[in-house]
Amino acid sequence: MKLAIHGGKPVRKKIFPGNKTIATQEIRAVKMVLTSGVLSKYLGCWHDNFYGGKEVQALEKEWARYFKVKHAVAVNSATSGLMAAVGAAGIGPGDEVITSPYTMSATPVSVLVYGGVPVFADIEDDYYCLDVKSVEKRITKRTKAIMAVDIFGQPYDVDGINALARKHGLYVIEDCAQAPGATYAGKYAGTMSDMGVFSLNYHKHIHCGEGGMIVTNDDKLAQRLQLIRNHAETVVEDMGVTDLNNMLGFNFRMTELQAAVARCQLRKLNGLLKKRLENVSYLEKRLKAIPAVKIPKVRPGCKHAFYVYPMTFDASIAGVNREVFLHAVKAELSGFELRENEGGAAIGIGYVRPLYFQPLYQKRILYGGTSYPFDRASKEALASYEPGSAPVCERKHFEELFTHEFVHPFLTHKDLDDVATAFFKVWDHREELQ
Ligand SMILES: *Cc1c(COP(=O)(O)O)cnc(C)c1O
Repeated sequence: MKLAIHGGKPVRKKIFPGNKTIATQEIRAVKMVLTSGVLSKYLGCWHDNFYGGKEVQALEKEWARYFKVKHAVAVNSATSGLMAAVGAAGIGPGDEVITSPYTMSATPVSVLVYGGVPVFADIEDDYYCLDVKSVEKRITKRTKAIMAVDIFGQPYDVDGINALARKHGLYVIEDCAQAPGATYAGKYAGTMSDMGVFSLNYHKHIHCGEGGMIVTNDDKLAQRLQLIRNHAETVVEDMGVTDLNNMLGFNFRMTELQAAVARCQLRKLNGLLKKRLENVSYLEKRLKAIPAVKIPKVRPGCKHAFYVYPMTFDASIAGVNREVFLHAVKAELSGFELRENEGGAAIGIGYVRPLYFQPLYQKRILYGGTSYPFDRASKEALASYEPGSAPVCERKHFEELFTHEFVHPFLTHKDLDDVATAFFKVWDHREELQ
């Protein structure tokens, strides 16, 4: 059997099913909203409608009940949600927020929006989340918060990071965009930090096209989040709010249409996650027979939500490098329905390049072409932008890690068998790749 990359017959030509969670319930719910004629009900002033319409408010109640948290605040994206959380925490010019370089770019950008300075710490070798020892080394007098990321669906080191934050009087803001339904010691990801931010964009476990949810158990933070979401500056006076720090509002409002869809999706989360985790264990059983690939570790006491499935490749065992091996696997498989334009199977070599390599952190040119707010950064903060500053993250990304979505809930055992067969075929013929 010749490898597909050398012109042989691929293991599979049929495109894999996409992760299509939208069905009749969502269509019915959207029709009802459209029929009502009320597509949004927010008013940007102190009024009953300051909190939005009935779908938005129902979604917030249901979200808070599901995740067992006091407040849920709906927004139009997790990017907006992260910004609102940074604003609610009172972060301002020159304040430092320690976060992971292995996340979506929006995580540190939410800090820059308020004139704060993102500081990158390294990640854990096993779990890819913020490494508590590295975070501790980055703390300076200017540090105000830690932004933890439940990357790939794995909860952050809640005990370690929260204890460090308490010791230094820091907020913990949690980017749980990839981890809805993940748990740590029986509690939901997003609910053990000061504020947790979920995403409802169309790549995520459940979605409404674009959307986000912020959760918190703190009444004052909840109010500040609601104000930042909806034109704070016009509302504070009538609402009797005297703390004006960051009380500048945006329009981060979710529409009734999105909220109606998100309510249906929340009801599906349990079932979708269960199927995803079944697929994980099915695929894992087969792939772990290949000595050069390692299946991911789950933090003890945690339930991982596997937004993507992170694996590592050991080139010294395989005798070929990661890129060569995975390009050959991709050639054996076709992609997902919705990703046809990307060509080949959805396998990522690494995840995102560690964020400090971006021109934003290398050149530090931003507002009006000035270097603000980087000109206020401590030397520790600036040192965290130097290549080499997060060695574990760099090794994972540039040498070992690969990520794929061949665990999503619409894949059948037959689909997963094809994935495993492709890996085995390339493994058995790896000498031909040298
Ligand atoms: C998707 C994602 C976001 C941004 O979500 P949006 O809703 O698209 O703004 C932020 N952080 C992480 C880790 C994500 O995966």
